[in-house]
Amino acid sequence: MQELDWNKAINDILSEKMTCQACNALGDEMIVGYTRSAEAAAFAQRCRDCTDKTDCDARKLVVVCEPCARIYRVNGEKVDETGMMAIMLDECRHNLEESIDYLAGYWKEDADIEYDEMQKSLDEVDPELFKEEDSWRMRLEEEYLQLHRWFRDRHRPIPDPGWRSQYVEDIIGMGYGTLLGD
Ligand SMILES: [Zn+2]
Ligand SMILES: [Zn+2]
Repeated sequence: MQELDWNKAINDILSEKMTCQACNALGDEMIVGYTRSAEAAAFAQRCRDCTDKTDCDARKLVVVCEPCARIYRVNGEKVDETGMMAIMLDECRHNLEESIDYLAGYWKEDADIEYDEMQKSLDEVDPELFKEEDSWRMRLEEEYLQLHRWFRDRHRPIPDPGWRSQYVEDIIGMGYGTLLGD
């Protein structure tokens, strides 16, 4: 069974076909977009770690065929593989920016944070919470590097390449480390 799936994966890559995450249909183009449908939690990448998938109304990025886009009410656009990777890169960047905003100060608005602690950084005030946030950010950065490699391997230009150096400056400016450069 496993061997069969492996062969299928290789063939999908060679044929440059995309796979519907919901029903596994193949196509040259897929609808890539967002849905809040709880049923989509079963296959959405972002919900891998969701413990309760029965009522997840998070905004989920999915890649689906046209019939499935209708079923899961996906707000998206029909794109080829390169278009899909560009959207996924965008999503990854968006999540990293949210992480920056949080580290830069959103955490201070939490009701448990004492007023006098607001001048400090998150790793000083709550090392546990920082570690949690930091490992989430590391995972996003690893994902970013994978997406980056995909564009490089195919000699396709990376959309808005300047984003990366701005991100690195922001993170380093706050005194934290990043996998995306120095
Ligand atoms: Zn489908
Ligand atoms: Zn979820």
